[in-house]
Amino acid sequence: MKYEDAIKKYDPVIGIEVHVELGTATKMFDAAPNTFGGGPNTNITPTSLGLPGSLPVVNEKGVEYAIKIGLALGCEIAETCRFARKNYFYPDVPKDFQTSQSDEPIAAEGEVEIELEDGTMFTIPVERAHMEEDAGKNTHIGGATGRIHGADHSLVDYNRAGVPLVEIVTHPITGTGARAAEVASTYVRTLRDIFRALDVSEARMEQGNVRADVNVSLRESPDAPLGTRTETKNVNSFRSIERAVRYEIARQATRLEAGEKIVQETRHFHEGTGETSSGRPKSDADDYRYFPEPDLVPLVPSRDWVEELRATLPELPAQKRRRLAGVWGFSDLEMRDIVNAGLLEVIEETVNAGAKPAAARKWWTGEVARLANQKDQSTAELVTPTQIAALIGLINEGKLNDKLAKDVLTAVADGEGEPAEVMSARGLEIVEDTGALEAAVEEAIAANPDVVEKIKGGKMQAIGALMGPIMKATRGQADAGKAKDMILAKING
Ligand code: ADP
Ligand code: MG
Repeated sequence: MKYEDAIKKYDPVIGIEVHVELGTATKMFDAAPNTFGGGPNTNITPTSLGLPGSLPVVNEKGVEYAIKIGLALGCEIAETCRFARKNYFYPDVPKDFQTSQSDEPIAAEGEVEIELEDGTMFTIPVERAHMEEDAGKNTHIGGATGRIHGADHSLVDYNRAGVPLVEIVTHPITGTGARAAEVASTYVRTLRDIFRALDVSEARMEQGNVRADVNVSLRESPDAPLGTRTETKNVNSFRSIERAVRYEIARQATRLEAGEKIVQETRHFHEGTGETSSGRPKSDADDYRYFPEPDLVPLVPSRDWVEELRATLPELPAQKRRRLAGVWGFSDLEMRDIVNAGLLEVIEETVNAGAKPAAARKWWTGEVARLANQKDQSTAELVTPTQIAALIGLINEGKLNDKLAKDVLTAVADGEGEPAEVMSARGLEIVEDTGALEAAVEEAIAANPDVVEKIKGGKMQAIGALMGPIMKATRGQADAGKAKDMILAKING
């Protein structure tokens, strides 16, 4: 059954678990550096390895970042909370348990407002945000799939073991209807933007800093009880999130139509095919034998500290968007295009550097985007907001027209220097030099006596025929208005 048909027949419910790696200097419970990359098993201490006798110490910065995230999501910050051991054996967890939080998360009950592509707002109910640590990384060698099944042997790298994570879990999200897939990916994108605004993580999806598990179930109608869910693990791009939700909805509908049951299980998403495949069965009561971590005291964030952190919260992306749209006088559609193209920040900086908002928008969404596309580079790699502001300044001063400014921009993007430098070095400035313009006009008049006759006879459109040669002679740098005045003065004078 296709997604479109599935959505007509069933009411989808989604639930999303997002893990974000915090950008602290060191790991959550030990002094090993928290850096990406590096040789295998170089960023480790006895605690990262869970060696006997090693003891954890809570990273204060990690707690601070978790509280900031909780506050930004509108959660209550717990007066007191604890870490817990989540026991399971897997080689990437050297202690045989993950230090996490169970029934006492640091933050609970918030919400996130998201804006869909067409401007519709949707509120995502957040159940909890809790602290935990990341696991190490297994690499399975041999075998076709890269998974453990069929592998000859496996390697394990503990550099990531103990990296601070915050996991944000939604309540079941209902009422999305056909937009379930878009809601899922927009929500994760919104969280990514929030993490960046808070400066608690680089939040790079492609680096695995942000990972999402997407739960999907179907039910007959919005007033029916929730159906059985599947949990597609570790989906790590916005597009994949959208595809995974669509695939699961279509797959589950097909099963239900055939009278089959949905198996509650984890699933893997495959980028290549856009399909999910069965992982392991997972019941709601998986027995992780949680118990309070005896090596760590309860965490009691003082109310003063929480309020201090609340006061440092930056303006969140959604608020900022609304404020800037008002100040700049942009329509919802213009604003959305800018945001979707990832140009909000550079346009803001260009305006801060002195440009008018409309001009900043025009250059970034127009010529810069076109060049970036052509060169297959990001707009931010091509030029800086200061450069675009300088370019707009030169246009306003009458030194460049749009055509010349495009040439200057191309040269700036090629690394030839700042706009003013490029303009002088390449002689792209509008010809102010009346001498040069006069010479070009005289030349054009002398070379086209027939055109001159027409103009004398009152056929003013004929002037156009002289502009071509004049522009050519001045390499496009003539001020067209001035040239026209000069032609008329010479012919009639
Ligand atoms: P788990 O331990 O299985 O990961 P969590 O409570 O951490 O459980 O996360 C489960 C996620 O699935 C939550 O976002 C929750 O809202 C969501 N969820 C629970 N039941 C359903 C359902 N029937 N359909 C869709 N999502 C669900
Ligand atoms: Mg979970």
